[in-house]
Amino acid sequence: MLDCRLAVDDVSFRYSSGHTAISGLSLDLGPGILGLLGPNGAGKSTLMRILATLAKPSTGRVTWNGEDISSNPDHLRVALGYLPQDFGVYGALDAREFLGFLAAVKGLSGRAAQERVDTCLAMVGLADQAGRRLGEFSGGMRQRVGIAQALLNDPSLLIVDEPTVGLDPEERMRFRHLLTDLAGQRLVILSTHIVSDVEASATSLAVMASGRLCFHGTPESLLARADGHVWEWTVDSGQLAAIREKFVVCASLRRPDGIRVRVVNEDCPDAGAQSVTPTLEDAYTWLLGADAREH
Ligand code: ADP
Repeated sequence: MLDCRLAVDDVSFRYSSGHTAISGLSLDLGPGILGLLGPNGAGKSTLMRILATLAKPSTGRVTWNGEDISSNPDHLRVALGYLPQDFGVYGALDAREFLGFLAAVKGLSGRAAQERVDTCLAMVGLADQAGRRLGEFSGGMRQRVGIAQALLNDPSLLIVDEPTVGLDPEERMRFRHLLTDLAGQRLVILSTHIVSDVEASATSLAVMASGRLCFHGTPESLLARADGHVWEWTVDSGQLAAIREKFVVCASLRRPDGIRVRVVNEDCPDAGAQSVTPTLEDAYTWLLGADAREH
């Protein structure tokens, strides 16, 4: 069993501009897939960079298997695979050359490096594309190359920052399945602002808003919070604008008898509304709304 315990203890981060991007955040993580959700600007990438040892917390500390990652970053780095948000590839190289280059940078060489490159290409379903120039790859294929490079050192901690941005629905789905297959005994941290990216795969969820952690738990416990707060009823199309004005509308669906609206709200919003079972998307919307009201 791989050793993978990541503990974030009361971490805050302030940019040199004076902007506080993370405040007082604590998280205790072990093997599994953590879906890190939050709207744009919530502080997810900043946290990912801290966890990848590319930035140091302003206050608080992070430990990897008990070792402080600020004073001893190498302890985590040897176990880390990281796919940053702005991962770029050299379009003139083919997939095998590119990964061979990165393997050498990571200290792998010779036959072992080439074998590892081929293994990683196979893991991400690109074995048959190994000799193709990366310039010809689709966005989804490039992201898979990004995962392959993150896997070169067989990491026990895999950090993937907003990996599905710019991918079409089919590529997104493929990418989600890939991460689920890869998890095993690793700790995978996947940040996204799209709930469906983590819906099927995450064993736990963390939600950030305005630099704070506003939830950490299982998807089921997030769903439970929204129980009794999701409502549906049918309205005339002329009423929709007023309803949007008054309530948080998660979805609206045109039907022969009008528009079926789905709303998250503390109490029953309308005499005709029925309470419905929350989806994870509803629960996330409910949580962010409740958090915003609280702060
Ligand atoms: P997310 O990944 O959730 O979209 P970020 O971590 O990128 O959030 O950003 C968190 C906050 O920090 C945002 O308000 C953003 O504008 C700010 N921020 C990000 N990078 C910098 C920077 N280099 N200097 C100053 N503020 C920054």
